[in-house]
Amino acid sequence: MLVLVINSGSSSLKYQVRDVAAGSVLTEGLIEKIGMGNGGGGDGEIEGPRDHSEALEQVDAAIHRELGELELGAVGHRVVHGGERFAEPVLIDNEITRAIERLNPLAPLHNPANVLGIRAITRKWPDMPQVAVFDTAFHRTLPEHAWRYAVPDELYTNHGIRRYGFHGTSHEYVTRRAAALLDLPVEEFDGVIAHLGNGASVTAIQGGCSVDTSMGFTPLEGLVMGTRSGDLDPSILVFLGRAGWTPEDIDTMLNRESGLKGLAGNNDMRSVVEASEAGDARAAMALAVTSYRLAKYIGGYHVAVGGAKALVFTAGIGENSHQFRGLVADRLAALGIELDAVLNGERSKEPRVISTAQSAIPVLVVPTDEEQAIAEATAAVVSSAG
Ligand code: AMP
Repeated sequence: MLVLVINSGSSSLKYQVRDVAAGSVLTEGLIEKIGMGNGGGGDGEIEGPRDHSEALEQVDAAIHRELGELELGAVGHRVVHGGERFAEPVLIDNEITRAIERLNPLAPLHNPANVLGIRAITRKWPDMPQVAVFDTAFHRTLPEHAWRYAVPDELYTNHGIRRYGFHGTSHEYVTRRAAALLDLPVEEFDGVIAHLGNGASVTAIQGGCSVDTSMGFTPLEGLVMGTRSGDLDPSILVFLGRAGWTPEDIDTMLNRESGLKGLAGNNDMRSVVEASEAGDARAAMALAVTSYRLAKYIGGYHVAVGGAKALVFTAGIGENSHQFRGLVADRLAALGIELDAVLNGERSKEPRVISTAQSAIPVLVVPTDEEQAIAEATAAVVSSAG
């Protein structure tokens, strides 16, 4: 089956056409500046599609230019927030679209854009099966003691304030691949998955299910990220509010100006590692803070899963930065974790073991592929519905 995978943002639309069985990308692209122009081309016209429907026309034209005539079997949407309702990918109909829309308050930047993408497809191809794949769904197995914040119950019951977790599609996909690499049925996999990209989260996996994860009510909680602070004392926000900062100021500072960028002046891990190796003290400190925070979570999650059988690194930094993996592993000696310097230094796109034979548990690098995971989930839902 050919699946069009859509990641619809407020002003951008990312797409891939995937051959699910082959696991291959047939074509991909990114339409930007949606809503900022009026179609482009003529006199005085500004570049950029008017809306998501016009963006979709551009996607359709690009796909046909690249691939000629082809039959798409379904569209798979990346949807950020599935709230408490969605624990699995679902076939989209009007009721589901409205349900996703009702979750807008929980993800005000993302869910409305996802709905625009869904409605654009519905208008253009009314009979096309569409599937929503939720970033939060894999974490619906968190036990209550892991998803509760210790605040008055009313915040949960009236406002839905609890921990949801994100990056679920990636954590689930990597869990399956890691179990396969270790020759374990996924139901027997207990481990810790560190998804380290520009956004970063770590998940505790027990019996193949998520039992804790570092992101919470929003993707801000947890690890030190490219531009996000991760955990901090919430009283800091009260302090800043009293000092005259607006909610928008605080939001921007925590989500866009913090993390590696705040500490080292740069959100790109490659640059921070290079600067540190060249003797830059701020960069070295940023790496120390970031690796220390992650190591603390890994230690905690080792306990949460009753003894991890593996530690897995994935995403941009996890897959590519042997230096950062080394810094984290150095802090995990108490768990008996030991990397093999040669295996850790190798470059490969294949899932692999990078620890020594003496390491108490294997350490793996498993490349993630969220679009393939969405395409597979979409094909599975459509097949079982058909
Ligand atoms: P992602 O969000 O998964 O695309 O990951 C982005 C992050 O991965 C950025 O911080 C990049 O600097 C980092 N990254 C990508 N390639 C490398 C590399 N070869 N070495 C170190 N970091 C890398």
